[in-house]
Amino acid sequence: MALRFYNTLTQRIEDFTPLEDNVVRMYTCGPTVWNFAHIGNLRTFTFVDILRRWLRYRGYRLDHVMNITDVDDRIIQKSVEAGQSLQEYTAAYTEAFLQDTATLRLERPEHLVRATDHIDDMAAAIHKLTEKGFTYESDGSIYFRIASFPGYGKLSHADFSGIRAGVRVEADRYEKDDARDFALWKALKPGEPGWDTVIGRGRPGWHIECSVMAMKYLGATLDIHAGGVDLTFPHHENEIAQSEALSGQPFARFWLHAEHLILSGEVMSKSLGNFITLRDVLAQGYRPEAIRYLLTSVPYRKKLNFTSDSLPSAETAVERLRNFKLRLETGKYAQGVNQSLIERTQQAATRFEEALDDDLNTAEALAAAFELVRDANSAMDAGEFPASNVAPALEFLRRFDAIFDVLLPTRRESGLTDAQIEALIEERNQARKTRNFARSDEIRKQLLERGVVLEDTKEGARWKRK
Ligand SMILES: [Zn+2]
Repeated sequence: MALRFYNTLTQRIEDFTPLEDNVVRMYTCGPTVWNFAHIGNLRTFTFVDILRRWLRYRGYRLDHVMNITDVDDRIIQKSVEAGQSLQEYTAAYTEAFLQDTATLRLERPEHLVRATDHIDDMAAAIHKLTEKGFTYESDGSIYFRIASFPGYGKLSHADFSGIRAGVRVEADRYEKDDARDFALWKALKPGEPGWDTVIGRGRPGWHIECSVMAMKYLGATLDIHAGGVDLTFPHHENEIAQSEALSGQPFARFWLHAEHLILSGEVMSKSLGNFITLRDVLAQGYRPEAIRYLLTSVPYRKKLNFTSDSLPSAETAVERLRNFKLRLETGKYAQGVNQSLIERTQQAATRFEEALDDDLNTAEALAAAFELVRDANSAMDAGEFPASNVAPALEFLRRFDAIFDVLLPTRRESGLTDAQIEALIEERNQARKTRNFARSDEIRKQLLERGVVLEDTKEGARWKRK
């Protein structure tokens, strides 16, 4: 079976090949850098990473653009509250985002582009849309007239024919019931940052930035456009309207949308105040690879229900895979070959590949890996795992890890502040004074587990991070 994806545009599973050559032209919506990314956001970016890796595994080259939204309503509001310039405010959260994605081993797209570096391109695009008759002005802002684009609604499969022409929405984010003419270019309110352009002074709306940057780097028609499911409407619907109005060509052939992460029965969302950041989870001592594993363990089109058991289970799963690899690498095996297990390994590899070809069914791909681990471990326990079976099993793990990338441990950061470490050392000193050596050893072990090494000297305990 061929590589295939569920296409939100057609609501069908379709075979995927790129339009030209062997290169996949792909655009994914990046972060709005107004705060730390939460693990629900990071689930979408991790899905994009799996998508990238699988496309490459299948022999394609990637030309992938991701934007950094560093100007929008919320950023402006937050930077004003913080008394910082837009640039100062967004630089810190951009850096944090790049750190978080590196921690989760997410590959960098070929082009990582900032909205504020493309304001003139956006103004030129809006100017062109105006020339073509798709816009109108009101109170100094420029709006896209959705009634002028007959395909409006084709991605979200909603019927917007009943909406009244000329009713506008200025906010970057709004609900489906509010399908209205949206702002391409916004007049400045007092205190708001702005840019002088061919269409005057103002600032861009959120939606235009993705259309403009996607087409600038990838041409009029993309192979894949992906993002979180919450972006389908209005953001992606508006992207299609703007882009196709500009080029007269289909904007994206495949639209892929990752589902939400659910926490306590609700969608994880900053606006609901219902969120956990990567930093929160790392501070609890969980490994980045366990978080990566968890975020990939549920196929991207299913909701991921995050519970108190999720991360401990992911830790155990990663540990099981690593132990298996270690056993393969360090075990002593007799000469010979177990042919049926060779076949079993081959079947697992086929099942793994077929699962990922099937719209990135990561759960099924993981099941293929764990069943092989179980069978091989049983064979080892029974003394039926000869030396010639080692290399094929390691080759399976190599392929597995080219996608899931959880086998190699991250150099362990303690997640403890210096003050927390000093406090634990002080507690240990007290324990030693009262000859409570059990507690003292426990603290030493606890610190070691979190990458902090203690050395007892005449001057007292010294510590360093591993
Ligand atoms: Zn976008």
